[in-house]
Amino acid sequence: MPTEFKNVSEITQNLIRIVQDNSNLQNVWIQGKISEVNRTQNGILNFKVTDNSKVIECVIFNDNASLQENFPVIGNEVSVKGQIYIAKDMSKYRFMVTSREDPDASLSNQFVSVSTLTNTLETALKTHSAEVQGKISEIYPAPSGFTIFKLKDETAHRQDDNIIECVLPRGIESPFSLEKGERVRVSGQLGIFASTRAYRINIDDPNNIEQVTEQPTLNECQECHQRFNNLRDQLCPICYDASLTSEGIVIGAVVRYFSGHKFSGFSTERERRIPFGANVGRADVVLRDSENRLFAIAECKRIGDDGSDRIEQGQLKSYLNASGTNLGLFADDTDPYEWIFLKKNSERGDFDEISRSQFEKALNVDPVSDIPPGKTRLELIHGNIIEAEVDAIVNAAKAELTKGSGVDTAIRDAGGEEIERAIQEIAERESVCPPGSAVITIGGSLPAKYVIHAVGPIWQGGNRSEPELLADCYKNSLKIAVENGIRSIAFPAISTGNYGYPIEQAAPITLNTVKEFVEQAHQNNEMVPERIQFVLFDEEAYNCYVKEFANLGFGLSCLIG
Ligand code: ADP
Repeated sequence: MPTEFKNVSEITQNLIRIVQDNSNLQNVWIQGKISEVNRTQNGILNFKVTDNSKVIECVIFNDNASLQENFPVIGNEVSVKGQIYIAKDMSKYRFMVTSREDPDASLSNQFVSVSTLTNTLETALKTHSAEVQGKISEIYPAPSGFTIFKLKDETAHRQDDNIIECVLPRGIESPFSLEKGERVRVSGQLGIFASTRAYRINIDDPNNIEQVTEQPTLNECQECHQRFNNLRDQLCPICYDASLTSEGIVIGAVVRYFSGHKFSGFSTERERRIPFGANVGRADVVLRDSENRLFAIAECKRIGDDGSDRIEQGQLKSYLNASGTNLGLFADDTDPYEWIFLKKNSERGDFDEISRSQFEKALNVDPVSDIPPGKTRLELIHGNIIEAEVDAIVNAAKAELTKGSGVDTAIRDAGGEEIERAIQEIAERESVCPPGSAVITIGGSLPAKYVIHAVGPIWQGGNRSEPELLADCYKNSLKIAVENGIRSIAFPAISTGNYGYPIEQAAPITLNTVKEFVEQAHQNNEMVPERIQFVLFDEEAYNCYVKEFANLGFGLSCLIG
């Protein structure tokens, strides 16, 4: 074991220098297909570029407005120039895009494949060893059997935490049990892990990890230290956490959610120990019953400065696996109330992403609304609208209100006699409902209390006011919902079946119309449903909506208002 140990920020500085000094990692052109675009709240654009070798995560910072303009678009081929960027608060590498060009005009450029680029990075790092001392901020088993832990400086101010990921390969056991909060010295070789775009210290000898027992020399500002200690006495644990870090705010939001009346049979626990092998991780928040049985685990993250770490659910999944828990919640500070829910798929042995109502249903709790005031939750669901557990579902009806096919048949068959009688009464009164209009009936035997029958336009090429009429369907349905005090509503993709409206054109109109309607209502302090689901029956329609949600910077479940 060497004797000279650096702290985490010193190692990070070395790493940044190694990358900056390597001309093959600077001003490089890559070419590939764009996927997974998202824009963070502070205007940073993240996306992935995949060529036929590998994928790399790219970032355009908010100081580069001209480059961000009309770019990037999912599915497009691009040529971009940039450099390897070290996201030191996450132990990740990224490709920071500095310029781009039209794919056709780019033939003269020397492109580098993503795999060549990452190999160059790996080679550059591999020749360096790292001896570092820090505090374990996270520890969990990777699916491959590796143990991953992250080190932070013991003395860092909270806002500039650097992190370095360390890895013990399968079969290499630490000589002592590793646990979050423990202070250690490690030495190993720098390297990268391409599938999570992380840089790491690989520790391949158990002798290269050592417990630190002497007291840390805290160089935290004494004044802050004093203030934090006072806060600890004055605030409850949730508010205390929330006062310290943005991760604390997320944890606070999750704890409040789990402490809500709908989870009355459960209790929450913070920092629950999750043993795996000889080591111990700590889950941020768990939901357990009075016999201490675990029902769900929540992991809460502070997202890195480039805001691009939403996909990083590996740690949560390993806690779920290690503790035999089926339900998970992943939260981060891009929006402390917008979470990803996971459920174990026992056939595949992996986890499916589910909606919040499916999560609550799996826990057998009542999916009543707990959405913050002034907000509406949009949810995207792949399924059958007749099963939607909402106040009202919307039907794609015919102008004469006679039974059609598709979703109309499904809803009316499931709604039964009662719904038919109610439709009959309206048909006698109105004789015909023009495209763009909507009427309401009871839901009969459906789980939904009401059905709003909206008449979509028949596609005739797009120049017969179809976009306006389609938008009217959504606006009028929402108006009727508001008039009837409906708090949750589910829409199918109106007109995109027998009426032939191309889904790629219908989806953006739909989402923009609903978004504008909801935002306007919240701005004017008017009532508007708090939960709006889009239930897509076939895969193509669902995928199209997923893409459209992403283009708007939305997750599959998101809050707007
Ligand atoms: P339209 O005549 O307005 O085009 P359709 O019922 O033919 O109405 O189709 C509208 C959309 O509803 C299509 O995307 C279709 O795939 C979808 N759909 C059909 N059955 C269901 C269902 N049970 N739940 C949700 N969507 C459905």
